[in-house]
Amino acid sequence: MGNRALEQLFRANPTGTATYQELSQVRGVFLTHLHSDHIIDYGQLLVIAWWQGLQAMSTPLPVRGPGRRDTLPPVFGDRPEPPVVHPDNPGPGTEDMTASLIQAYATDINDRIRDNHFPDPRTLIDVRDIGIPGHRPEWEHAQPMPRIDPFVVFEDDRVRVSATLVEHQPVYPAFAYRFDTDEGSLVVSGDTGTSDNLVAMATGADLLVHEVIDEEYVDAEYGDDEAVRNHLLTAHTPANKVGQVAQAAGVPHLALNHLVPAQPPVSRWRNAKRGYDGRLTVGEDLMWLSFNRRRPTS
Ligand SMILES: [Zn+2]
Ligand SMILES: [Zn+2]
Repeated sequence: MGNRALEQLFRANPTGTATYQELSQVRGVFLTHLHSDHIIDYGQLLVIAWWQGLQAMSTPLPVRGPGRRDTLPPVFGDRPEPPVVHPDNPGPGTEDMTASLIQAYATDINDRIRDNHFPDPRTLIDVRDIGIPGHRPEWEHAQPMPRIDPFVVFEDDRVRVSATLVEHQPVYPAFAYRFDTDEGSLVVSGDTGTSDNLVAMATGADLLVHEVIDEEYVDAEYGDDEAVRNHLLTAHTPANKVGQVAQAAGVPHLALNHLVPAQPPVSRWRNAKRGYDGRLTVGEDLMWLSFNRRRPTS
């Protein structure tokens, strides 16, 4: 639900006739982590989808995402302790954020409930923080993340969604998701450095959508600051390593997204083929990707 995600959902309509009613086809929202570039349009979804699509859904829209963080990340570098924003709850989770957004838009929401007879939007969504099995407080500062087994966060008659912890320090938790359907399996990395948990969860999947960062770009922009450079290259996956992630998981198709930087040339992502003998796609906005289940070859 990053910047312009809602607009792109409208435009993704395969008939080309984008209408707000298309939002009724959204089956769920799964937030990988709470960095603003992944959630900034969530408030828009809550408010606009409420009166432009969600009311047509037969069941509340499931929303799953990180829960509250108990401890703040350490201060990066050699800096004094800065002031804390919202000290009563400095690490709000998905349920907290949803309640705060509803509160922020309450003037509009109450107006439309009373004037347009819309239902309370809270009845149209099913928002839950994801509880992490076996979570221990020290995991909030662990690097790398402890090895955990993928765990189910949502299931209906068409899809089972599992999550695992990935490497996006100092963010905790950061999730990758796996979507298992009768037609095939898709794994979405979210923001992460190379992650053993992700490789384990992606094993046997048909398509891996993975984030990527260009190491040469990082060197050019931040090469004079070793700490920032290393930070970026461990919280994200360099192009020359992402193919090895897909190879280790045995995934036949790797699609790159969250390209840092987003600017051309596309050739900067050629390194992603290093160590990978599957199919590589460099993602673009509104690209359709199939993930048909592989047929047994025997
Ligand atoms: Zn992030
Ligand atoms: Zn991001």
